[in-house]
Amino acid sequence: MTLLLACVFVLLHAAAIFFLPAYAMQVSYAFLLTVPLIAAAAALRRGLREDWRSSRGWLLMALGMVSWALGMVASLRQNLFLENANAAPGDSTLLFVLYGVPILLAVSASYMEREPLVVRTIDALLALTLGYLFYVHVFSLVTLQGAGSRSQAVYMAMMLDAENLFVLLAAAIRFSASDRRHEFQFYRAVVTFAGLYTVVTAYYNHFVALGDHPDFGSLRDPLVDVPFLAFALAAWREGEQTPRRPSPTLVRMVRSGSPLLMALALLALSIVVLRERFYVGVMGIVVAVLGYGARNTFTQAQHIKNEEGLRQQSDELATLAHTDSLTGLPNRRALDEMLERAWYRPGVIRDRITLLMIDIDYFKQLNDTYGHPAGDACLKKVAEALRSVLGRPGDLLGRYGGEEFALVMSGAPLQAGLVVGERLRQTVEALAIEHARSPHRVVTISVGISSGMAGLRPLDLLIAQADSALYQAKRNGRNRVAAVDD
Ligand code: GH3
Ligand code: MG
Ligand code: MG
Repeated sequence: MTLLLACVFVLLHAAAIFFLPAYAMQVSYAFLLTVPLIAAAAALRRGLREDWRSSRGWLLMALGMVSWALGMVASLRQNLFLENANAAPGDSTLLFVLYGVPILLAVSASYMEREPLVVRTIDALLALTLGYLFYVHVFSLVTLQGAGSRSQAVYMAMMLDAENLFVLLAAAIRFSASDRRHEFQFYRAVVTFAGLYTVVTAYYNHFVALGDHPDFGSLRDPLVDVPFLAFALAAWREGEQTPRRPSPTLVRMVRSGSPLLMALALLALSIVVLRERFYVGVMGIVVAVLGYGARNTFTQAQHIKNEEGLRQQSDELATLAHTDSLTGLPNRRALDEMLERAWYRPGVIRDRITLLMIDIDYFKQLNDTYGHPAGDACLKKVAEALRSVLGRPGDLLGRYGGEEFALVMSGAPLQAGLVVGERLRQTVEALAIEHARSPHRVVTISVGISSGMAGLRPLDLLIAQADSALYQAKRNGRNRVAAVDD
């Protein structure tokens, strides 16, 4: 439907020129003034419908279209009211050139990320400088009345070609690295416009305006409608179409490198301007280099800040993942990892590892008698008591699971394990936590100990031996320490 309307628009333009040859120029002005405004309206509408992240590009495109429409107004004033038939009057030429500045800004800025205000300010400064240099350059070639010679007009047309090609190239690069739907659709619209506009403008400027038909009003004018209508269509349609997946490396490179596009455009124009206005050219180069550098510094600083936040978060998560939430002790995962590291540590000198498996006696009965919350409170108290006994840096006490704890003693012989085990047992008994259904009347623990030279046997064996020692302690009446040596 919208496509049909676009075709009707072009046909109407052609028909009006054909059937009203006396007013052909006026007709073309009317159509060529309307068509960028249609494109601007479509971009504006789209910008207002998108969220803040994707709206900026569309609004900048609308601005570019408005600049072009204003160029047409200036041309109309020169041509019809001032009766100046020159093909390149300064004011309209400048506005036609300036259309590219907001578009370049849209193409070089990050599409999705919310940049700090200072970065946006730098972007705006670069864009303004680019606009100013265009102004200086255009008016160093032509006057307000227009180009003084044909060669100047040809140069102007070539400058427009270069600008259009640059915008097209920049947009194509961004398009090729768009991996999100909104971004993909935006750059597709920009590439469509820039591609058609580059071709149409080159043809029109070189072969119509500088060729056989310097004024508007030829039957080839409706051609100029096409890029604007194509853009308006692309802006209007909010398809569900998603991009094919570009390589993540490409996406990252383009996304971080795109600010270079604006700086490059400014640098290139500055070098051109340098020949006619030395200091203005130098100023452009300085702004391009410093602006790009400052922009990078600020975004880099932002990234470092984000990274620090992420690292802190990941440290906190790692700690959480290794901590038992009830007792605050290292959990099973932490114990396993630590045992694994201690047991298989590379090196010549082997450590002796002594492992204590600690299990609360008659804990099921405690839960059944006093309730689960009381069981939890008991677990916390026992954990606290066990922790208070230890202090050696080589020791790691953790909750192995349920009402079982484990103590890994690196570099300690079995004898030391027996001493510590006995001290742990006494400490828990001394807590005197009431347990009516235990023969000992208070909460007690049993401890099973195994010991071995790290890496000599499989680690599983060390654990199985500690388990079987624990079983032995249980069988012998609980509230005691038993050991198995290799
Ligand atoms: P034994 O003297 O032979 O060790 O007997 P026990 O009752 O202590 O051992 P058993 O393995 O039969 O029961 C352990 C109980 O520990 C079963 C389970 O309900 C309880 N338990 C495990 N984890 C928790 C916990 O986080 N909180 C509470 N309150 N109870 C737990
Ligand atoms: Mg148990
Ligand atoms: Mg138990």
